[in-house]
Amino acid sequence: MTDTRIDAQTAAAPVYTVPQERKIVTAIPGPKSQELQARRSKVVSSGVSSALPVYIERANGAILVDVDGNQFIDFGAGIGVTTIGHTEQRVVAAAADQLQDVIHTLFTITPYEEYVRVAELLAEHTPGNWEKKSVLVNSGAEAVENGVKIARKHTGRRAVAVLDHAYHGRTNLTMAMNYKAMPYATGFGPLAGDVYHAPSSYPYRDGLSGADAAARTIGYLEKVIGASDLACLVVEPIQGEGGFMVPADGFLPTLQTWCTENGVVMIADEIQSGMARTGRYYASEHFGWEPDLVLSAKGIAGGLPLAAVTGRAEIMDASQPGGLGGTFGGNPVACAAAIAVFESIDEHDLLAEGRRIEATFRAGLERLAARYDIIGEIRGKGAMIAIELVQPGTGQSTKAPNAEAVTAIVAFAAQHGVLFLSAGTYGNVLRFLPSLAVSDALIEDGLRVLDDAFASLG
Ligand SMILES: *Cc1c(COP(=O)(O)O)cnc(C)c1O
Repeated sequence: MTDTRIDAQTAAAPVYTVPQERKIVTAIPGPKSQELQARRSKVVSSGVSSALPVYIERANGAILVDVDGNQFIDFGAGIGVTTIGHTEQRVVAAAADQLQDVIHTLFTITPYEEYVRVAELLAEHTPGNWEKKSVLVNSGAEAVENGVKIARKHTGRRAVAVLDHAYHGRTNLTMAMNYKAMPYATGFGPLAGDVYHAPSSYPYRDGLSGADAAARTIGYLEKVIGASDLACLVVEPIQGEGGFMVPADGFLPTLQTWCTENGVVMIADEIQSGMARTGRYYASEHFGWEPDLVLSAKGIAGGLPLAAVTGRAEIMDASQPGGLGGTFGGNPVACAAAIAVFESIDEHDLLAEGRRIEATFRAGLERLAARYDIIGEIRGKGAMIAIELVQPGTGQSTKAPNAEAVTAIVAFAAQHGVLFLSAGTYGNVLRFLPSLAVSDALIEDGLRVLDDAFASLG
């Protein structure tokens, strides 16, 4: 049943069903969005928040269209999920075909080829040249939970280590693994035990070389936990919610070497940074890091819910049969979409698009940084770029975080049809996670709005 898929994929250039431009035709949020917001507030838990309460009716490429007809340039991509573009044609065709064939059987009852194919593609594309196996689940947090389960079973050890500024999810175990209590864990305890927070590498604020930062982290692991009790060290190669911190060179491979020497499973949480987000398939590759296990989620299936733990076969086989799985894990439609995502990345050389996006963004952001001294640092890789804002005049001396400016810029941009996301432990990071479909023209347009936003801060 691949015929329609092949038709869709042979189109030479992407065909967009929504013009790739921003357009604001009402106040933001518009009247229809306000009506929906009123309905929502009666029936949707207020524990679920929305960064920008405009209700989206259509999305295509790099553009969101709301119910009032406003068009936004999307520099969030659903937090790095629609990496290859909204409603990407190959994903749409593959999912539509699969819906006709089989929607669900449960792989642990009667299996199907699509699950196996996704595992093959993951084995091929994740870092490390060794025999690999995978388990497919529904969400990033579930991938983290399974990675920890597998590492504990494999090592027979209890403790889990994470890094400062980490974000790993909202389930019971993962909220204990996050750095920030507020809003993720406050009041939701008791939290899972045996989770330890070790120092990270945050070059802008700690000024440490990779070797020195790794020595500090290892010192903590040895003193506070003891290697013989440590099952796994879970690390985002580029921290996402924490603020797109790019670790100093050598930090990650040094930690991997220490883990290998001490029988600790080192797990790359590539949920935000993986799947072609950074100009490589997995961000670990930028740092010469070959993790024991790799977690994929967000961008893997073009917007459908799918996540995976992939890694060394001998570790992945530690679980007893029946120990891993779940009702919806590796759903056939999500798997068909994921296969289309891998094919699209290769066919359209989307890794090169990530590098193009980085070059365009960096050049534009450097021009802004020359004029606005509250831009403390520009950092990131590929289509995962951020600026960290500091208080005026304090610059390199105190680096006092400037969350107010980020909030004001995000609000200004939304009014002008550009969706920016904030991030950062101190809320002072503006992050850009566009889809790889974003053109240079759209990036330049977004940067003009960003320039106006900075100017409006006065
Ligand atoms: C989003 C995210 C998660 C959690 O994924 P969910 O699908 O929201 O459960 C875990 N780790 C990182 C790095 C993430 O960005």
